[in-house]
Amino acid sequence: MSWHLATVAELSKALASKKTSSLELAEYFLSRIQADSEIKAYLDVNSELTLSQAKIADQIRSQGRGGLLTGIPIAHKDVFVTRGWRSTAASKILADYISPFDAAVVEALGLPTETHPDSAGMVCLGKTNMDEFAMGSSNENSAFGAVLNPWDRSRVAGGSSGGSAAAVAAGLCPIATGTDTGGSIRQPAALCNLTGIKPTYGRVSRYGMIAYASSLDQAGPIAKSAEDCALLLNPMSFHDPRDSTSLADSGEDFTRHLQENWNQGADSSKPLAGLRIGLPKEFFAEGLASSVADAIHAAKKVLHDLGASISEVSLPKTKLSIPVYYVLAPAEASSNLSRFDGVRYGHRAKDYRDLTEMYKKSRTEGFGAEVKKRILIGSYVLSHGYYDAYYLKAQKIRRIIANDFQTAFQSCDLILGPVAPDIAWRFGEKSQNPIQMYLADIYTLSANLAGLPAMSAPCGFSPEGMPIGMQLIGNYFSEARMLQVAHRFQQATDWHRRQANDSIQAGVAS
Ligand code: GLN
Repeated sequence: MSWHLATVAELSKALASKKTSSLELAEYFLSRIQADSEIKAYLDVNSELTLSQAKIADQIRSQGRGGLLTGIPIAHKDVFVTRGWRSTAASKILADYISPFDAAVVEALGLPTETHPDSAGMVCLGKTNMDEFAMGSSNENSAFGAVLNPWDRSRVAGGSSGGSAAAVAAGLCPIATGTDTGGSIRQPAALCNLTGIKPTYGRVSRYGMIAYASSLDQAGPIAKSAEDCALLLNPMSFHDPRDSTSLADSGEDFTRHLQENWNQGADSSKPLAGLRIGLPKEFFAEGLASSVADAIHAAKKVLHDLGASISEVSLPKTKLSIPVYYVLAPAEASSNLSRFDGVRYGHRAKDYRDLTEMYKKSRTEGFGAEVKKRILIGSYVLSHGYYDAYYLKAQKIRRIIANDFQTAFQSCDLILGPVAPDIAWRFGEKSQNPIQMYLADIYTLSANLAGLPAMSAPCGFSPEGMPIGMQLIGNYFSEARMLQVAHRFQQATDWHRRQANDSIQAGVAS
């Protein structure tokens, strides 16, 4: 069987009907990972540990216990700390770091333990590559080498969760976790033809997630379908007292609306009748590639045919999200990254005369260029005399950006737009020009600034054959409804089913 082509929902059925075992799946994906190291999707694998987890998952199922996800392999972005695998955030400063504990997300998705008997029972395949400390839009900032896009290996996979996206798209895992501070789930998902969702801020615990910008960071799934995202989001979202911004447990089942119509009782040929979709006019202005605009308009037509009504809305402060984000995120990063001092974690310089020099050398040697730049910017905007002019000002505009969304949501239920202004670019194309790189985030940043849930789903291809994603942004706590719309869209289209030209398919699949 070609298990790498299957969705999580399909694998779950195959496990339940004993068509396969967790051990077989783990061996299958491990051999694919080994056969495709060129793509650099993974930073650490530990076959022994993976296989021993798989055996336990099989035992759980054979005793009639476990749930839908028990025994399904998963890869975790290297920003989540994990016992047994290195946790580096793709930085030299943490190159050999092994965490003594699991991040809340890893714990909730992993095998049940005495303290967490309700964990989902998934099997960890390893840790995926990313931009160093999640700072980047192309995965070119990893200290361990850039991730290649499985659709065209001369192009970037997107960032910062590029390793997770490339791993799913190349069939090196069925599903993966990612984090999104300014688009890092949605953008690589779009560039690799995948579905990814950044939940409402606070839905998913940040405990054990190596912090970049704490008021923006949020974890979520990167998968082959909206249904798979819903399946993973269920165990991922819960109240965690260890994260002070964790929301109360809603007990929500994110799969519950998938098969329903938007309005109960609507005609089944128009499952989305009653849904009001807003297209922000600012999203369709200068800077958007025509192939992306065409694909979004085609998606709009599909949604309309499914019964949704479409109207124009306005998010007038969209443009300000880049300057605001690139003040606030570095400010928080400069504070969060002060803990990497050579004393408590990771790399320590070899030769130094005193404590100050030890800090200085350890950080100079350990951090990459982009991380250093952001620490400098962050320290600058937080310093006396500039705090009011930059940091405080940015906080005020952040609120205005959030208010724009609330105005828009008075006339629509969901916002539809592009995820990224263009298809995946070639290596080096934007890395020489930071402004070009930051502009790639124009459509994704505002949802993080407002704390809103937002997702990406495949909606077409460019003339070069590269995938294009559409973005849905919803109001707070509307994830289940957003996933429903994406699921209905995926039932009506097959963009998400298309697979990357898989150079190793013939080698290990049988
Ligand atoms: N590209 C943005 C940045 O560089 C967002 C990254 C992210 O979401 N982690 O900060």
